[in-house]
Amino acid sequence: MPTSLVTGGAGFLGSNLCDFLLARGHRVICVDNLDTGSLENIRHLKNGVNFRFEMLDITGHYEVDEPIDFVYHMASPASPIDYARLPLHTLKVGAYGTHNTLGLAKKHRARFLLASTSEVYGDPLVHPQPESYWGNVNPIGPRGVYDEAKRYAEALTMAYLRQQGVDTCIARIFNTSGPRMRPHDGRAVPTFLRQALSEKPLTVFGDGSHTRSFCFVDDMARGLVLLAESDVHEPVNLGNPDEMSILEMAQLIIELTDSRSEIVFEALPVDDPQVRQPDITRAKQLLGWEPEIDVREGLRRTIAHYTKVVAEPASR
Ligand code: NAD
Repeated sequence: MPTSLVTGGAGFLGSNLCDFLLARGHRVICVDNLDTGSLENIRHLKNGVNFRFEMLDITGHYEVDEPIDFVYHMASPASPIDYARLPLHTLKVGAYGTHNTLGLAKKHRARFLLASTSEVYGDPLVHPQPESYWGNVNPIGPRGVYDEAKRYAEALTMAYLRQQGVDTCIARIFNTSGPRMRPHDGRAVPTFLRQALSEKPLTVFGDGSHTRSFCFVDDMARGLVLLAESDVHEPVNLGNPDEMSILEMAQLIIELTDSRSEIVFEALPVDDPQVRQPDITRAKQLLGWEPEIDVREGLRRTIAHYTKVVAEPASR
């Protein structure tokens, strides 16, 4: 039975990845400092014989006292409101956290996957974004702490591959949503869902014409595992190429939740990318991966989860 270490395993993506790996027959060691994650996300796994949780901060030195085959490095603040609140920590996670986790992969001769992001492309001047595009990032803007931490983490990962012989890969993750996103994490889908389900106005930034491409979390977990189990080293975009405007997403959520909410417009945040759409040619060719769950179906499944969460806000 292979053993996978998942850093940030109590977060949104990390906990869904833990579920996927356990269903695939892996033993899973989940580490998290619960900065933005929650024990609630892994409560259903707590008593499983093949699941172990360690509460620790990966920016400090850490060891794992059993063999590991795969390391999924998911830990990092990921939502703009989180990295605005934790700017230095975000940089430290990208630097020390990635360094420590790569060191662990080296020691255990494990395959290492970095959860990078479409934010390495910044506000892109090339559309859709292929992996060969180097990006248009503002290093000193409010998003710089996240974007540059991830760019540094990619450089560090390639250095460990080239100089230290660690078996690494890099997933450039585009907007992903689904069950366990925190209703108040500030990202578009959970915010709109929370607002629509409580019949409050949906707050769209700018005129809502900026675009995103939303991938459902189950597709993302499958893509991450396919990449980790491949022999690919170069970065691979993972995301849903179905692009839509933020206004269209707000309207779709109102329709699917049968909400009577109206849409209101607020100022666009600084450096918010205008467009975002992955070119997934490489993922298709190298991994045979593409999303299988369309936006409507993904939203239906997410709404089923959020209906419960919004009804029980005190437990979050
Ligand atoms: P999340 O905030 O739900 O999960 C991040 C997890 O990392 C949390 O559980 C948090 O407590 C943990 N963490 C943070 N700092 C830590 C530290 N120092 N030590 C241990 N644990 C720590 O966010 P998410 O959306 O699940 O994102 C997971 C990863 O995927 C991140 O690396 C993020 O950059 C990347 N990503 C996500 C998306 C997306 O759309 N969700 C898009 C691109 C990239």
